[in-house]
Amino acid sequence: MSTRREFIQSVPATSAAFAVAGNLILEANPARAQEPTPLKGHFDPKGKAPSKFTLDVLTQAKATLPFADTRDLEEQKKGLIAPMKDLKIMADAGHVAWDMERFQFLDSQDEFESIHPSLHRQSKLNNNYGLYEVIPGIYQVRGFDLSDISFVRGKTGWIVFDPLVTKEVVRAAWKLFQDHVGNGLPVSAVIYSHTHGDHWGGVRGIVDEADVRSGKVPIIAPVDFMNFTVSENVYAGNAMNRRLFFQYGLLLPASPYGYAGQGLGQAISAGATGLIAPTRYVEKDIEEFEVDGVRMIFQYTPNTEAPREMNTYIPGMKALWMAENVTSTLHNIYTLRGAQVRDPLGWSKYINEALYRFGQEAEVMFASHHWPRWGNDRIQEVLRGQRDLYAHMNNQVLHLANQGVTINEIHNVYEVPRSLQNKWFCRGYHGSPQHNSRGVVQRYLGFWDCNPATLIPLSPKDSAPLYVEMMGGSEKIMARGRQLHDEGRYLHAQEIVNKLVQAEPQNQAAKDLLADIFEQLGYQQETPSLRNSYLAAAYELRTGIPQGETVDASSPDVVRAMSTELFLNFLGIRMDSRKAEGMRFTMNLITPDNGEKFIVELENATLTNIKGFLAEKPDLTLTINRSDLEQTMIRAKTLEAQIADGTAKVQGDASVLQKLAATMVDFDPRFEIMPGTMLRPDVVAHADPYEAVPRQTIAE
Ligand SMILES: [Zn+2]
Repeated sequence: MSTRREFIQSVPATSAAFAVAGNLILEANPARAQEPTPLKGHFDPKGKAPSKFTLDVLTQAKATLPFADTRDLEEQKKGLIAPMKDLKIMADAGHVAWDMERFQFLDSQDEFESIHPSLHRQSKLNNNYGLYEVIPGIYQVRGFDLSDISFVRGKTGWIVFDPLVTKEVVRAAWKLFQDHVGNGLPVSAVIYSHTHGDHWGGVRGIVDEADVRSGKVPIIAPVDFMNFTVSENVYAGNAMNRRLFFQYGLLLPASPYGYAGQGLGQAISAGATGLIAPTRYVEKDIEEFEVDGVRMIFQYTPNTEAPREMNTYIPGMKALWMAENVTSTLHNIYTLRGAQVRDPLGWSKYINEALYRFGQEAEVMFASHHWPRWGNDRIQEVLRGQRDLYAHMNNQVLHLANQGVTINEIHNVYEVPRSLQNKWFCRGYHGSPQHNSRGVVQRYLGFWDCNPATLIPLSPKDSAPLYVEMMGGSEKIMARGRQLHDEGRYLHAQEIVNKLVQAEPQNQAAKDLLADIFEQLGYQQETPSLRNSYLAAAYELRTGIPQGETVDASSPDVVRAMSTELFLNFLGIRMDSRKAEGMRFTMNLITPDNGEKFIVELENATLTNIKGFLAEKPDLTLTINRSDLEQTMIRAKTLEAQIADGTAKVQGDASVLQKLAATMVDFDPRFEIMPGTMLRPDVVAHADPYEAVPRQTIAE
């Protein structure tokens, strides 16, 4: 990847699909004047090599890592039946949906000076690409997406666990599987282990919806699956979408100086996402039933890695499926794209229950990311380590908090016990001890450190000018910042240079220095989401947020999963209440095809709704089938058009809808994070007033 244009075009299409109110089509940035001679091999003309301080940090890290333990290398390779020779999978829309060629560089050298050795090791392990036997009767295709797809032999066909993110890669995985071990047998059931998009989005690549409707192919999922697939990502969806550019490094090319894998897997596929609703739900703590003749015990584990999740034990095969509750990493307690903080103690307890319920006899353990574990000793070792990892984080962080350590210090104080640090599967390839420990404090105590000086702090742009003034101005800060940078004291350097950038967003020299600081910090990180966040910020500081128009890429399946109440709640968020001052109305909404009714009221510049009620004297009654309303939600047909052709019926004052529409604001996924990085504020997102599309649920 050499030119800037190719670089921009490498952004996976799914990044666009994450938008809630507008997607990006990226175009090349204008050429910049006086670009310095680029570092050879670096994608960014302003990119720098790792400093000697960064090299020291990585060398020291290497010396403490448990490289003598090579079991992952054997487990990752074990059972390979067939590699996939073609490293690219095309999307039906014509672009590349999946590209493992991008990650071949990881195997080209034993080490890179700009990649943490532990992350490099994990990313090499994730460079598997093919069909594997877990045990006779259980197979996995790995390396076709962020997640793995698993096939379990049933009486009449194959039971599929977690059909990846997009249908094109699932189709390719299924073909590879059928070419070698599938025997032409059909899919007989599908299990969605949890609500994140990388565990169901490709279902249409492997199952015909008619077969699900007819009952031929059951789909099994934890209770409330449909609600939580969507709801986790709607309310703050646009902000999460933007933050994904940092956590997942969506603008960074795969390169020793850029994106080096995501820890859970190499990347997220960029094909078409769909969703077929489950037909059977697991809701008790433990439920046992047969799936295509195979006895399965489901362990319902809500509020662990996802709001709804479940593990599965197959006693006849002594096989334990740990969903995403136990993979080869410390997972996120707090996830940087933004999510409610998870419950590490509850998570640990569910792992403990799996250990004592199934882990005493299980002979193989597999999951939705990474590779399986064989043998009961190994399974117990991994379950015990993961159990303790989450419990320790909960307990020790609270122990420290109870002694006065605050959310602003905990990441510098909390340490994972040495014995767990020595287990590869407890290292931070998705969560990091730093951001997770802050997350635990946030969960129990919230953002405030209890110092009144941080209770109503100035906004950074308001406080920064005072700092700059008191520090003696820009030149002094630049000189000292450069000195700290040159001494390798990057965390100190960022303290002051960030203040300058906040105070002077147009000061490109300051932005470039801060980018240099972030870049070194990025190279030093073991956790991909931290590395990506530093490197993404460096990229945007140097070149600005990529410009481009917005496009639509909605998945009607996902809109169907969004309840009308959730849709109305989201309209309340899209409404700029400052535009609704003084407005007042009461509206009845009736959707006859699903028998729902709502009162929607605007009062006090606030839009509320209540399900199951109708007002006696509404200003307006709107009657529209839910299936037609969905056309408006996905922007296929405006509400105006629905009314004009009689699809929707209005009684009363129809101007209410126009007034409400005028308060709706389009969320733009290109808002500025680092000051002075917005290149084209004139390009605005467009959404219809009553559109509410969760473009894509977020993979994790
Ligand atoms: Zn996942």
